[in-house]
Amino acid sequence: MPNDRLPRIAILGAGPIGLEATLYARYLGYPVELIERGASPAAHVLEWGHVTLFTPFGLNGSPLGIAALQAQDANWRAPEADALLSALDYYQQYLGPLAASDLIQNSLCCDTEVLALARKDWLKGDGLGDPQRGEAPLVLLTRNTRGEERVTEAEVVLDCTGTFGNHNWLGPGGIPALGETAAASSIEYGLPDVLGCDREHYQGKQILVVGAGYSAATTVTYLAQLPGTKTTWLTRSRSAEGPIARVPNDRLAGRDALAAEANRLAAALDGPITQWAETSITAVDFREATDNFSIKFSGAHACEAVFDRVVANVGYRPDDRIYSELQVHQCYATDGPMNLASHLLGNAAGGGAVDCLGQVSCGPQSLLNPEPNFFILGSKSYGRGAQFLLSVGLEQIREVFTIIGQRDDLNIYATMPGLSVGR
Ligand SMILES: Cc1cc2nc3c(=O)[nH]c(=O)nc-3n(C[C@H](O)[C@H](O)[C@H](O)COP(=O)(O)OP(=O)(O)OC[C@H]3O[C@@H](n4cnc5c(N)ncnc54)[C@H](O)[C@@H]3O)c2cc1C
Repeated sequence: MPNDRLPRIAILGAGPIGLEATLYARYLGYPVELIERGASPAAHVLEWGHVTLFTPFGLNGSPLGIAALQAQDANWRAPEADALLSALDYYQQYLGPLAASDLIQNSLCCDTEVLALARKDWLKGDGLGDPQRGEAPLVLLTRNTRGEERVTEAEVVLDCTGTFGNHNWLGPGGIPALGETAAASSIEYGLPDVLGCDREHYQGKQILVVGAGYSAATTVTYLAQLPGTKTTWLTRSRSAEGPIARVPNDRLAGRDALAAEANRLAAALDGPITQWAETSITAVDFREATDNFSIKFSGAHACEAVFDRVVANVGYRPDDRIYSELQVHQCYATDGPMNLASHLLGNAAGGGAVDCLGQVSCGPQSLLNPEPNFFILGSKSYGRGAQFLLSVGLEQIREVFTIIGQRDDLNIYATMPGLSVGR
């Protein structure tokens, strides 16, 4: 990095972590370009706006963000530290105003997708371990919604593009089931608002929900409230407590209540939910004429059955095509950056917390990649793992700027006066 001026930073993705990283960088005076694919910031969060966050606002907003919003508008009030906001409220009360604040607004460029990154004039295989590789800028190829492409340069790139836009598949061992790719546009891989704007699409219908995480639990508990809707809940494994593994002595009461309710619904006989455990999907056929699916199953409930809707809550994975020309070492199990993944897998192998609230960041060194000045932050840094928390991402931001700024003790969060939300 040149020493005579602050490096230009490109931040990819204006989700909660991209926004906070931009704020941190701008506060320190770095020139920043924040590039967002969606029409508005936090485009992924807005896709599940109806879902209630299970972490309180005090864990989801930073002291810097709160101070910036208080300085921007004397009438702005931070949500209560213990408030459990819907994702939409989190956007409207915090992320949206943050994106519109003076420090971020001029850096933000929406409707623009980052397609690819490279090291200028160095191919992927060039200059292994050569410090000169880091002297050249990174180049970014972007395309906006008008189809205009642009190449820009930056000395530092923070990839905060998340994973929500890149779902896993339904088939055996995680590959697409037969016919799934052709049917994908008719399958719901997100969290439909079945009690709100998507109600008509689901009410009175036969639904197949796949997955054993909190997203599936959310979908199933909502569907159970729709009159006349019958849901089959498919899971690959079977457990005595039910489809959702509850965190012992869960400190997040809302999360535990969700897990308990989903498991209760799955266990109830003659209720709106029927669980098919130890069952997998082998083939999917979407029939446009009748607007329904014929699905083939293997395992405990091997059969062929018809469903009106399919909700695949089977998780997400990072899109690594963006940085395929860079020297990034990916984990063979999670697709996350290897350095961080080895810390996270080490924690898990050592009996690490199932409770993601018990997670802490793994330290600045865990964020380093073989490619100099390229960092993956936020949910994408956890690869396919679903344990990422916003509070971990805020800590990653603090840590990455100790590296970029070459100051081990740099911590803006600790210097913010007059905060109304403790962390
Ligand atoms: C349903 C659900 C509930 C959750 N609840 C909680 C909770 O209660 N507490 C908690 O701590 N965590 C929760 N999480 C986990 C996590 O904190 C969130 O996923 C959070 O949104 C991650 O923020 P992020 O900024 O890393 O990524 P994202 O929010 O995914 O943001 C990434 C941004 O990058 C943009 N983007 C993607 N690709 C490109 C590209 N190529 N070019 C430009 N822009 C791009 C996207 O449009 C998006 O705006 C939840 C996750 C989900 C899915």
